[in-house]
Amino acid sequence: MNKYRHLRLIFVIASFNILTITAQKSPKNVIFMIGDGMGIAQIYSGMVANGNKLALEQCNYSGFSKTYSSNRFTTDSGAGGTALACGVKTKNGMIGMTPDSVAAQSILELSSQNKLSTGIVVACAVTHATPASYIAHQVNRDMYDAIATDYLKTDIDVFIGGGRKYFEERADARNLTDELKAKNYQVVYSIEDVKSTKSGKLAGLLYDDQNPKMPERGTMLADATNAAIQILHNNKKGFFLMVEGSQIDWAAHDNNSTQVVKEVLDFDQAIGSAIDFAKSDGNTLVIITADHETGGMTILDGKFGSDEMKSVFTSKNHSGVPVPVFAFGPGAENFTGFMENVSFKAKIEKLLKLKK
Ligand code: MG
Ligand code: ZN
Repeated sequence: MNKYRHLRLIFVIASFNILTITAQKSPKNVIFMIGDGMGIAQIYSGMVANGNKLALEQCNYSGFSKTYSSNRFTTDSGAGGTALACGVKTKNGMIGMTPDSVAAQSILELSSQNKLSTGIVVACAVTHATPASYIAHQVNRDMYDAIATDYLKTDIDVFIGGGRKYFEERADARNLTDELKAKNYQVVYSIEDVKSTKSGKLAGLLYDDQNPKMPERGTMLADATNAAIQILHNNKKGFFLMVEGSQIDWAAHDNNSTQVVKEVLDFDQAIGSAIDFAKSDGNTLVIITADHETGGMTILDGKFGSDEMKSVFTSKNHSGVPVPVFAFGPGAENFTGFMENVSFKAKIEKLLKLKK
């Protein structure tokens, strides 16, 4: 009898240790991926066209994010991005601010303050609402020149997208590219130069204004995601990277379902890159969600492997429905059920053990 009691005790201790180890596993790096306007129908249209599979499906945890803003049932990308980045519900059109125009710190800024490396990779101008929410504090999303100057106010390590003219052809005649170089940034204008940069600070301003839509911009988003990860991963303390599939929204505003498919599949390439890295690294949490759904899209009929499907849009604008959330890697279990869009910042802050 004594012998069995002993074994039972060993079993209890062993289980306890396994539980403790599992509970303590937290990520060093977070890759936060936003499909602008990407609801479940947008995702499924890409999945159907791609032969019933997406890289996204490797995520083992999922949930929903409620997207309403402080003053509207249906959010815009300014308030939506600010909620995801800064953890505050604000008024539509505002960037990185509370409804009463007080600057709110973003998870990227807090990560930088904690000496983690930080990055932004987008398929639009880096001054556009979603990326701006992570780095800028402005009352209006259309203030592109002002948003560009905010890139010089943090220690962001890597940012890649379009919007060169907001840095170089400005109403105030400042040349922000020169100012970036003075702050030790390598400023490059082509994806080839992005890909050959292995360390240091990098500003990749690949297009004068917005990036072209798919397929014209090629594999820029996945390539830039891979390049950013390689640079940011040099920091032993870890990193925070935000990646946006920016133009799913624009295709859905146009009610163009075949273009939605192209943009979703492009974003899924970047997701695949992030998950591949997370798998090999083991210390990286990948979170994928949207700021809102666009177009009130649904799919009535289709055929796997074909982008011709019976898609229906109920609006030319955003809708108010919750959007899906997917997570992969250590800490992914924290992203299930119904969540407020303002809950991400605090969760990531806790998982990365950031200090205010
Ligand atoms: Mg956006
Ligand atoms: Zn939109």
